[in-house]
Amino acid sequence: MINIVLFGKPGAGKGTQAEFLKGKYNLVHLSTGDIFRYNIKNDTELGRLAQTFMDKGDLVPDAVTIQMLQSEVDKNPQAAGFLFDGFPRTLAQAEALDAFLATKNEEITATVALEADDNILVARLLERGKTSGRPDDQDEEKIRNRYYEYNHKTAPLMHYYAAQNKFYAVDGIGSIAEVTERLSAVLDQLHIK
Ligand code: AMP
Repeated sequence: MINIVLFGKPGAGKGTQAEFLKGKYNLVHLSTGDIFRYNIKNDTELGRLAQTFMDKGDLVPDAVTIQMLQSEVDKNPQAAGFLFDGFPRTLAQAEALDAFLATKNEEITATVALEADDNILVARLLERGKTSGRPDDQDEEKIRNRYYEYNHKTAPLMHYYAAQNKFYAVDGIGSIAEVTERLSAVLDQLHIK
């Protein structure tokens, strides 16, 4: 199996690039943000719980998020691999993911971060907020809190994966096609086909 983690701050283009990567490498795309939003839309218990954190731009607690992710993986027993988008976001999540994959004799193949400057991304997200309808895209204070969460809780994961020689970074600023090209160059060099 090929299991890729896509890192990037909110607005860095993870969702857009995931659309391309999942097709090229035949991966099941799991975006925890999308799964939470689906649950909010359908007014499930999980959705109601997640919403209180998401609306403030805070991370949803690890236990809830890890359990949800594991059950999504288990819903896809035929998958040739997974593209994790927006997960893991904390060290506890990364360790839980490694342990969970190990129970299936699987592991993370590589992690790739889309790098971009906070100020460029804040402007991008405020623009997206005009059409996305997402409350967490519409208020600069909430957006800044999401970056705070990323910088404090998620950024350290790069060291975690670098220590396993599984961390790569590409410049996330440029046209969609240019960024796609950079991501492909990294993954192709790993002979992921
Ligand atoms: P995203 O769509 O990836 O920007 O995620 C939107 C929001 O969903 C985040 O600001 C968090 O509140 C929540 N969320 C998504 N993924 C996770 C995760 N792995 N851990 C905790 N909270 C998450």
